[in-house]
Amino acid sequence: MRHGGTAVAADVVVLAAGAASGRVPGVPAAALPPVRPVKGQILRLRVPAPLRPLISRTVRGTVCGNPVYLVPRADGELVLGATSEELGFDETVTAGGVHALLRDAQALVPAVGEAELVETAARCRPGSPDNAPIVGAGALPGLVLATGHHRNGMLLAGVTGEGIADLLTAGELPGHLRPFAPGRFAAREPAPVP
Ligand SMILES: Cc1cc2nc3c(=O)[nH]c(=O)nc-3n(C[C@H](O)[C@H](O)[C@H](O)COP(=O)(O)OP(=O)(O)OC[C@H]3O[C@@H](n4cnc5c(N)ncnc54)[C@H](O)[C@@H]3O)c2cc1C
Repeated sequence: MRHGGTAVAADVVVLAAGAASGRVPGVPAAALPPVRPVKGQILRLRVPAPLRPLISRTVRGTVCGNPVYLVPRADGELVLGATSEELGFDETVTAGGVHALLRDAQALVPAVGEAELVETAARCRPGSPDNAPIVGAGALPGLVLATGHHRNGMLLAGVTGEGIADLLTAGELPGHLRPFAPGRFAAREPAPVP
C-alpha cells in the first residue's frame, strides 16, 4: 500500500477502488476482484425560469428499450442519465451518447428541449460478473473487498460501510450482506479487465 510514495503497513486493507478494483497495483492477480468498468454518460441541464419546475420528482422510463431517468434539483437543474456501455476504461463523452439521452428524455418530457445543456460527463461504474456488489473477505489474509456496486454505489454506500465496519470489528459480515461475499465467484474465471 502506498500513500504519497510511502509504504504503509496494515493488518487489514479494504480494497474499494471502484472500477479500477480489478487492477490495483501490488495485489496478486488471483486475489483481485473480478470487476470490469461499465461506462456511463450523464448530462446536467438548466431549466429556464419560466418553465420551473419542469418536473417535481424523478421521472424514469424506457424509450425504445433504453432506460432513462430525469432527476430534478432544487436549483432548477435537471440531471439526465445514464447510458450503460461495455467499452472498458473509456471516459469519452460521445455525440451518440448525448443524443440518445436527450432524445429519450425528450420523449418522456418534451420540454427538456428548452433547457440549457450545462455539463456532460462520462465515468466508469464497477461491475461484477453478476452485477451485484462484492463485499467481504478477499482471497488473501487481511484483504477485504468492498466493490462491484455498479449502478447503485451511492445508494448502497451506507449499508456497505456499516457491513465492512462490522466485519472489521466483529469478525463477520451481517447476514444481509453474506450473499454478496466474494467467494461466490471462486469457481469462475475472473472477468477480463481491458
Ligand atoms: C453516470 C453514472 C451515474 C450513476 N448514477 C448513480 C446513481 O444515481 N445512484 C447510485 O447509487 N449510483 C450511481 N452510479 C454508480 C456509482 O457512482 C458507483 O457505484 C460508485 O461510485 C462506486 O463507489 P466506489 O466507492 O466503489 O467507487 P468510486 O466512487 O469509483 O471510488 C473509488 C475510489 O478509489 C480510488 N482509486 C482507484 N484506484 C486506486 C488505487 N490504485 N489506489 C488508491 N485509490 C484508488 C479512485 O480514485 C476513487 O476515489 C452512477 C455511476 C455513473 C458512472
